Amino acid sequence: MRDNKWLENLFDEMWEKYFFDVRRANQIEVKFSRKARTRLGSIRMTRDKKKSIILLNGLFRDSLIPTQVVEGVLAHEIVHYAHGFCSPLKRQHRHPHKGGVVKNEMVSRGLEHQYRIEKAWTKDNFVKEVSL
Ligand SMILES: [Zn+2]
Repeated sequence: MRDNKWLENLFDEMWEKYFFDVRRANQIEVKFSRKARTRLGSIRMTRDKKKSIILLNGLFRDSLIPTQVVEGVLAHEIVHYAHGFCSPLKRQHRHPHKGGVVKNEMVSRGLEHQYRIEKAWTKDNFVKEVSL
């Protein structure tokens, strides 16, 4: 089973490798949430903007789920942060998802593989609902 420490390490690695040019404008907390049926991950920010919190579905604690799926979900939430959604950074789009802005950002940062694996896995294993 994976724990929050594992998740934090993966998050730091991904940031250094794919998002090194994105400023961390506040504290970012990353942790597993409870298991959920429909939501892969989410990001929110505290009212005082001092902290952003990324939650990943507790299902991903299971090491049978490929790491690349987890990377895809993490990257998705980091892209929201980079685009100024639930982060203090300047907002770059009117809507967090419209126009495929998340996919485009992931592809341009060399994360197309993770994007595709996450999509394929989700299609087979999940009923996805719209969320940040
Ligand atoms: Zn999203």
